Amino acid sequence: MNIHEYQAKALLHEFGVPISRGVAVLKASDSEAAAKQLPGPIWVVKSQIHAGGRGKGKFKEASAGDKGGVRIAKSVTEVNEFAKQMLGATLVTIQTGAQGKQVNRLYIEEGSDIDKEFYLSILVDRESSKVSFVVSTEGGVNIEEVAHNNPEKIVTFSVDPATGIMGHHGRTVAKALNLSGDLAKQAEKLVAQLYSAFTAKDMAMLEINPLVVTRQGQLRVLDAKVSFDDNAMYRHPEVAALRDETEEDAKEIEASKYDLNYVALDGTIGCMVNGAGLAMATMDIIKLYGMEPANFLDVGGGASVEKVAAAFKIITADPNVKGILVNIFGGIMKCDIIAEGVVAAVKQVGLQVPLVVRLEGTNVEAGKKIISQSGLNVVSADNLDDAAQKIVKAVKGG
Ligand code: GDP
Ligand code: MG
Repeated sequence: MNIHEYQAKALLHEFGVPISRGVAVLKASDSEAAAKQLPGPIWVVKSQIHAGGRGKGKFKEASAGDKGGVRIAKSVTEVNEFAKQMLGATLVTIQTGAQGKQVNRLYIEEGSDIDKEFYLSILVDRESSKVSFVVSTEGGVNIEEVAHNNPEKIVTFSVDPATGIMGHHGRTVAKALNLSGDLAKQAEKLVAQLYSAFTAKDMAMLEINPLVVTRQGQLRVLDAKVSFDDNAMYRHPEVAALRDETEEDAKEIEASKYDLNYVALDGTIGCMVNGAGLAMATMDIIKLYGMEPANFLDVGGGASVEKVAAAFKIITADPNVKGILVNIFGGIMKCDIIAEGVVAAVKQVGLQVPLVVRLEGTNVEAGKKIISQSGLNVVSADNLDDAAQKIVKAVKGG
C-alpha cells in the first residue's frame, strides 16, 4: 500500500524526522487560509498523487498552466491561483503512464532555501534479507540515471537486524554525503529516526528524494515516498486508514475485498488461474502465442464459489478483456467449485467474449459436467498449450 507525500511526512515527523511545515487541502477555496498558517515569504504548492516526477510533470489541461506539479509561489494569492489551476487537473509524469493522474489533493508547504539536494532510500533487500540503505549526493534527479551513469556516486549498506541501527551506520551516511560537524550529527540522528520509522511501521520502501541541506544549515526531508508491506497492514490500522482508494485500480480494490491475488495488466486476455506459478506460466504462454494477458489472477487454494464468481466478474467487467482463459489445476482447489463459480458469475453478468476453460485435477469430471450442463458457450481445452492456442484463435477470429 502506498500513501501520499504529506501523509508520509506526518508519519515520519512522529519519529522526530525534520520536515517543512505544511497543510493539505482538498479545495482551492481552502488554499489561502492554509498558506496563511505558514510563515512565507515562499510557499511550495505540491500535487499529491501516488507517483513521482511531479516537478517535471505536465498537466493535460492548458488551463493548469505549464509550471509542473510542484510550484513555488511568492504570495498567498499565487498559492490560491496555483491551487485553482492544479486541483481537478490531470498530471502526467514519467511514473503515471500517458493517462496521467487526477490531482485531488494539494500539499502547501513553507518553502525551503536549498543549499544541497541528496538522495536517501531504505528498502527491504531480498537478497541479504536485511533492511538496506541507498545514499547518494546526487539528489533531486532520477536515481536510475545516477545508477546507470555514475554508479560510484551511490553508497549502499544493510543493517543487521540483530543489532539494529548503530552509530557507524549514521557515520557512513554522513561520509557518503560529505557532511561534517553539526550536519554529520544531524545525519546520524536522522538515519536512526528513519530506521525506527521504517521498522516500526513495516514499510517496504521509504524514498527521500531530495533530502536537503538548507542555507540555514538544517538537514530536511523535502520529498517522501513510502510503501508498506500489505501483509503487515493488520498490525497498523492507523496506516491502513491513510489509504486513498481513488489512487488505486478499481478492479484491484474489488479483488482485495475478496482476498484475491489480482494485478491489472495492459493486455486483452483475462486469466483466471489457481496458484501463482501456474498464473505466471499461463501469462507466458499467452504471450508465446502472440497476445497479452489483461491481468494476473491467482484465486488461491481454498476459494469458495462466491470468491471464484467475484474473480470472474472482475475479469468480465474489464472493457479491455476480449477473451477469457480459465486454467485450473485442481489440487486443494476443486474443479467443481471453479465451475460453479464461473457459471454463477455468468448467470449474473452475462458473457460477451469467448471463454476457454481447461480443468485438470481434483473433481475434474464433476467440474466439466457442471459446465457442459450449464448451456454456456465454452470452448474446453485439454492442456495449457491447447488452451492458450484456442483462446488466442477465438479472440483473433472474433
Ligand atoms: P517530485 O518531482 O515528485 O519528486 O517532487 P519533489 O517533492 O521532489 O519536488 C520536486 C523539486 O521541487 C525538488 O527536487 C526541489 O528541487 C523542488 N522543491 C521542492 N520543495 C522545494 C522548496 O521548499 N524550495 C525549493 N527551492 N525547491 C523545492
Ligand atoms: Mg522527489
